[in-house]
Amino acid sequence: MKFQSFLIKYGEIGIKGKNRYLFEDALVRQIRFALRDVEGEFNVHKAQGRIYVDCEAGYDYDETVDALKRVFGIVGICPVVRLEDKGFEELKKEVVRYMDQLYPDKRITFKVEARRGRKSYPMRSMEINCDLGEAILDAFPEIRVDVHHPDVLLNVEVREEIYLYSEIIPGPGGMPVGTNGKAMLLLSGGIDSPVAGYMISKRGVGLEATYFHAPPYTSERAKQKVIDLARLVSRYSGPIQLHVVNFTDIQLYIYDKCPHDELTIIMRRYMMRIAEHFAKEDNCLGLITGESIGQVASQTMQSLMATNDVCTLPVYRPLIGFDKQEIVEISEKIDTYETSILPYEDCCTIFVAKHPVTKPNVSVIRKSEERLKEQIDELMQKAIETTETILVK
Ligand code: ATP
Ligand code: MG
Repeated sequence: MKFQSFLIKYGEIGIKGKNRYLFEDALVRQIRFALRDVEGEFNVHKAQGRIYVDCEAGYDYDETVDALKRVFGIVGICPVVRLEDKGFEELKKEVVRYMDQLYPDKRITFKVEARRGRKSYPMRSMEINCDLGEAILDAFPEIRVDVHHPDVLLNVEVREEIYLYSEIIPGPGGMPVGTNGKAMLLLSGGIDSPVAGYMISKRGVGLEATYFHAPPYTSERAKQKVIDLARLVSRYSGPIQLHVVNFTDIQLYIYDKCPHDELTIIMRRYMMRIAEHFAKEDNCLGLITGESIGQVASQTMQSLMATNDVCTLPVYRPLIGFDKQEIVEISEKIDTYETSILPYEDCCTIFVAKHPVTKPNVSVIRKSEERLKEQIDELMQKAIETTETILVK
């Protein structure tokens, strides 16, 4: 079967009223963006409260559907057969052919649902339903009608041309990126943070990212892995500005001056401070991390409190109540898992203490940080100034 268009179904919740067109325009924009590298020519347009993707002959069906499946805001993707209107008898034949090709096994129930966008069409919707239903029943003795719970709901839309569709391929849901501002993701090479970025972006939020590396303790390959992860996430979120911060001197300085059981927490606090600096510079409205309560020592309630202590922007932690297995399942779904498990070193694991505090006290940690006052401002400044920014798409 050849499909010439896709009808895009999107969720209605939260987009009623005067903001609806903003939502739709953002969705059209994101669809165009998602299709820019797909083989073929596409015309994405709004018509009568719907969004259509019209495809030129020779486009790649699988690639197109894959790209649409990554556009947040899309709930369903319906492949459409577009027919020239050559009269009702011809339409009957086409509809029978459509059913025959799409549903080789005829032990199914169906219902026809016609809509007239073109009111001048000589038949009313009810008549179209009955007559096309009859033609299908005549053609296939095994098929049955079920008007309440049909296996196949055959939509027939009479527009300038006639549109037939019955299949709905699930989309990712969520809101189109760009309808909810931008946030800064703390992106490491692990499993969690790419998933956290995906989840916040799903609600319509554009992403930027910050990665802390510690050369020569962490390698170029570890950095490349993070760039690759950013690229995988950007297939959903759109382009990501990735800030790569050289964190080595700060880490060594903390290692030198602070109690070793507090290293991870203090390091995390400096990561948050630097990520927040870039976030504010680039108009991000919050920070995102892949933290989940109790996953490791630095993610107990007390540790999260100590980390949060240095942030003035809200910190979004979409995985906060997830078990590791649930996070792994999402990372497999969005294709980041295989990259995340590549075994390169991480700056957090290199300077880690054998017995980190699990219940840090905020005032104790603040006190320990006072030991850094001589050089830390200068080191922070240097880390910020030497940060490399990469546009990932
Ligand atoms: P992940 O799988 O995302 O690496 P994790 O289980 O390794 O998480 P931690 O190392 O405690 O957990 O990190 C918690 C969060 O802190 C990460 O999800 C990420 O948002 C941020 N983070 C940790 N290390 C880095 C890093 N090197 N660069 C940027 N962000 C980081
Ligand atoms: Mg990590």
